[in-house]
Amino acid sequence: MSPNAPSNAFLPAASIEAAAEHRHHRTALVLFSGGQDSTTCLARALSQFERVETIGFDYRQRHHVELKSRLVVLDEIRRQFPDWGQRLGQDHVLDLAVLGDVSETSLTRDMAFKMESSGLPNTFVPGRNLLFLTLAGSLAYRRGLEVIVTGVCETDFSGYPDCRDDTMKAMQLALSLGMDRRFLIETPLMWIDKADTWRMAQQLGGDALVDLIVEHTHTCYLGDREHRQAWGYGCGTCPACELRAQGYERFTSV
Ligand SMILES: [Zn+2]
Repeated sequence: MSPNAPSNAFLPAASIEAAAEHRHHRTALVLFSGGQDSTTCLARALSQFERVETIGFDYRQRHHVELKSRLVVLDEIRRQFPDWGQRLGQDHVLDLAVLGDVSETSLTRDMAFKMESSGLPNTFVPGRNLLFLTLAGSLAYRRGLEVIVTGVCETDFSGYPDCRDDTMKAMQLALSLGMDRRFLIETPLMWIDKADTWRMAQQLGGDALVDLIVEHTHTCYLGDREHRQAWGYGCGTCPACELRAQGYERFTSV
């Protein structure tokens, strides 16, 4: 990442574009993990849509910190942003323990173990985001939700093929054809970096939202909620913490 953060000039244009795009869309389902990215996406959806529901996946994450964080974040949004709280509907958590089974299988192979930027080991199931989106599509269909929002990003994590823009477009088409219902998959963070994600949060909800994200969202791979850094809780040294810290530093230094 360049130390010279891009300007946040994209934001007003993005907001205008988003408002125009969604004149006819009133409902959304946000893939919500309790992290910085998906919390920012949730705030953005709450500022755009009349009804917003959330979906999370319990795939026996190494730490249950994420699953706890997402409930705290939802509570804090309702408490601190009552207008958004009125639009915030049901939260859905799907049990995907089966993903843990597949992961265990791949762990038996001769591969170097390393943590990747998603917070999962590199031995985890390839294409799991395709599964998440398919399940989100099924739920959106049942709940009558038109737009599926996900915080995937090519800028920071270019290595993940199931997070790329082309994959999202292909999934949008596949879900729309396969369920015979027009879905939009929206990816507000696709082309921005972590500093701009902080800026987006500030534009959406001011310092209160930035503070909420710092205090209550979780990013650290190690599930560390003991060490409080300027940018939130985390070990400070894993790749996820480093990325979050660097983004926050560039966000606050401008
Ligand atoms: Zn960490």
